[in-house]
Amino acid sequence: MRALVFSNSLNFSLKQPDPAINEGDTLLKVRQAGICATDLEIVKGYMGFKGILGHEFVAEVVDSPKKDLIKQRVVGEINIVCGRCDLCLAGLSTHCRNRSVLGILEHSGAFADYVRLPSENLHLLPDSIDDDQATFIEPLAAAFQVLKQIKLDGRKWVTVLGDGRLGLLVAQVLQTAGVPVRVIGKHSSKLALCEKWGIRSRLLDDIVPRHDQDVVIDCTGSAEGFALALQIVRPRGTLVLKSTFVAGKPLNLAPVVIDEVTIVGSRCGPFKEAIRALAQKQVDVVSLISRRMKLEQGVEAMQLAGKSGVLKVILTME
Ligand SMILES: [Zn+2]
Ligand SMILES: [Zn+2]
Repeated sequence: MRALVFSNSLNFSLKQPDPAINEGDTLLKVRQAGICATDLEIVKGYMGFKGILGHEFVAEVVDSPKKDLIKQRVVGEINIVCGRCDLCLAGLSTHCRNRSVLGILEHSGAFADYVRLPSENLHLLPDSIDDDQATFIEPLAAAFQVLKQIKLDGRKWVTVLGDGRLGLLVAQVLQTAGVPVRVIGKHSSKLALCEKWGIRSRLLDDIVPRHDQDVVIDCTGSAEGFALALQIVRPRGTLVLKSTFVAGKPLNLAPVVIDEVTIVGSRCGPFKEAIRALAQKQVDVVSLISRRMKLEQGVEAMQLAGKSGVLKVILTME
């Protein structure tokens, strides 16, 4: 099969073996997949992953032990878990001690013709959600995770730092929950989307950090963003770290102590809520698509996705 494979360098391959199906696995034919910041970080060395990249996808079921899934259009949760360890049994299966993660940790990803996942990971898609929207369900679920982790009722000053793919999803999710959110970013073209959605936004150059925000959600994916977030959040405020990045330099954590900041790490989230929000047209994800490219152009697509000002690049498997 065709696949986009990373090992020391990123290459498009025509000769990858089809996924080896284990008991309980479902074989999926990928329809399209989205490139995310995590993919770009992996190519820089994050997680030490080597193999087929890609974890944001929509697919059609080719074969499954659950026969009613065959030919259905699905999305899939990315953590492949054991169901038996202490964390799984405690309801924290996204933190399973024996997990692998699609396209991130010891499990081949979705930038390929075919991918395999346990059938429990799959969610059926209603017809009201098209493939473009479905490609955003995984990152949109991650955005919903912020609402699961922190109480935002009554918080008046909430800032999303970063106007990239994830920041714009988080801002919309907070808006649907009635949170008075503002986005700070570097790109007027991306902030124009906020205006379209009725979300307040400011250019980074126009703000003076005042240690006055109740909650800051850092979606910048950079060490500089983290440092700035600490200048924006108020004493005893909450800083949510939403993006993974490979820190190249030491972080100064003294402000966390001095200002008694609560730091919350945030990763994968609830697919059901993301699917419901898209079905009910509460969030606009299609405006985030910058380009659609073929799987064969995957190397070029990854370069494009890393450029400033570019939002979501989608790989199509047709
Ligand atoms: Zn992602
Ligand atoms: Zn487990």
